[in-house]
Amino acid sequence: MVSTEYERKIAARFATFDQDGNGYIDREDFSAAAKALLAEFGTAARSDKGQALYIGAEAFWQGMAGIADRDGDQRITREEFVHGAVKRLRDNPDRFAGIAGPFLHAALAVADADADGAATVAETARALKALGAPEAVATAAAGTLDTDADGRISEPEIVSAFARYFTVPE
Ligand code: CA
Ligand code: CA
Repeated sequence: MVSTEYERKIAARFATFDQDGNGYIDREDFSAAAKALLAEFGTAARSDKGQALYIGAEAFWQGMAGIADRDGDQRITREEFVHGAVKRLRDNPDRFAGIAGPFLHAALAVADADADGAATVAETARALKALGAPEAVATAAAGTLDTDADGRISEPEIVSAFARYFTVPE
C-alpha cells in the first residue's frame, strides 16, 4: 500500500526499471528497454549502435544487481530496490553515473540522428516515451532536461538528470 510521497516516488522509480511490469527487475527489463529504444529509432540490433546499447544495458543490469540483489537470485524485488539501489545510489551519485553511463551514452547515440553529440528535446521525448513514459510526461521531462535551454540535451545533462532521479528525499 502506497502511503507517503516518498513511497510514491520509489514506486514510480521501480516501475521505470520494471519495464515488463512483472513485479521485479531483472536482466530482461534492461534488454527490453534497449529493444524498445532501437525500435523507436529504427536502429538494427546488430549495428554498432545497437550492440553498444545492449552491452550498456547488460552493464547497467550487472551494476544494479551488484548493489541491490542481496539474495543473488538475479531478481531485484521492490524491497531490495528500496534498501539496496535507492539508498546506496543516493549516498553515492557518482556510482550511478558509473553503472548507468555506458547505457546512457549508447542510448544518446541511438537517439541523436545528426550525431552531433546531443539529442534534441523531441528526440529525448521519443526515447522516454519508448521506455514507457506517457507522452505528456515524456515531453515535459525532456524539456526539463535541457537545463541550459539550447534545445539540445547533452550527455552530462542526461547523466546528471538520472543521478538526480535517485536522489529521493526521505
Ligand atoms: Ca520486470
Ligand atoms: Ca533478489
